[in-house]
Amino acid sequence: VASRRIAVVTGGNKGIGLETCKQLASADIFVILTARDVERGNRAVEELRGIGLNDVVFHQLDVLDPTSISSLADFLAKEYGRVDILVNNAGVVGARMVGGTHRRLTEEDFAGPQAKALREELVVVTPEIAGHCLRTNYYAVKHLTTAILPLLQHSDSPRIVNVSSEFSNEKLREELSGVGADLTEETIDNIVERFLEAQKNDRIDIEGWPPLGSAYVVSKAALNAYTRIMAKKYPKIAINAVCPGHTATDLNGHTGVQTVQEGGKRPVAVALLPHGGPSGVFFYSGEVAAF
Ligand code: NDP
Repeated sequence: VASRRIAVVTGGNKGIGLETCKQLASADIFVILTARDVERGNRAVEELRGIGLNDVVFHQLDVLDPTSISSLADFLAKEYGRVDILVNNAGVVGARMVGGTHRRLTEEDFAGPQAKALREELVVVTPEIAGHCLRTNYYAVKHLTTAILPLLQHSDSPRIVNVSSEFSNEKLREELSGVGADLTEETIDNIVERFLEAQKNDRIDIEGWPPLGSAYVVSKAALNAYTRIMAKKYPKIAINAVCPGHTATDLNGHTGVQTVQEGGKRPVAVALLPHGGPSGVFFYSGEVAAF
């Protein structure tokens, strides 16, 4: 392991996370595949070993559990003393699907008279589901990143890849970029807390938050903003966000148009960018895009 790059992937037991582990291991990277469920995680490692990818090890990680985070960090420190690549992939959709409409929805769908019916048919978002989504997709990334940072600092070419999404809206874009150089983690946290408050008080529409799946959209917009802040704060680490593209996985009931192989390629490409490459940017379709 001493001469090999070491990658840690969250939510590695299935979907884009598993594929990311597979492609990284195929590129001769030593992979720590993590999953919250020990059985599902071990099964995924077995699957990779079954196709000859032997340098993959499992470690339990529930990104929502601080004890689990510190136990992973302790394990990595003791076993390897460093981490070269952290892929923050674990995520949840933040809505319970109740309907059968299987196509990608846009903000336009929610601008017309059918908006209310569509929303009722498709999703149920309670304040609990929204809170869980923000904790998983945004706050947990911050907690894990903070715990792994000291190990990344022992790498010659450290990278953090935040698996995110391109779907944002004007209000968020304005709030999260308009503050420019002054953008801080506290600013992002405040926006997130205001959103959760609006969700609780049924004021999503009135306050102009994004419509369908707004918790997910807010979580990824917050993650993108956090990516930029961290890149500025840690210039020696390449910290980028990447959208895998609309990929058929459990997350969207397999309605995505890409295969996991195609989706997994995106975070892997960002993880393997040449040393000295971009930092603090958002990749969409393989290109640097606006957040
Ligand atoms: P999946 O639902 O297939 O996989 C999600 C993974 O996250 C699972 O391994 C799941 O574990 C894990 N996870 C959820 N909560 C936790 C937790 N508390 N601790 C540890 N792991 C957890 O979805 P995808 O593969 O599609 O999604 C991967 C990432 O890609 C997500 O961040 C998603 O937002 C992003 N993305 C996906 C797109 C798509 O079209 N699929 C588009 C844009 C972004 P478990 O099996 O235990 O539930």
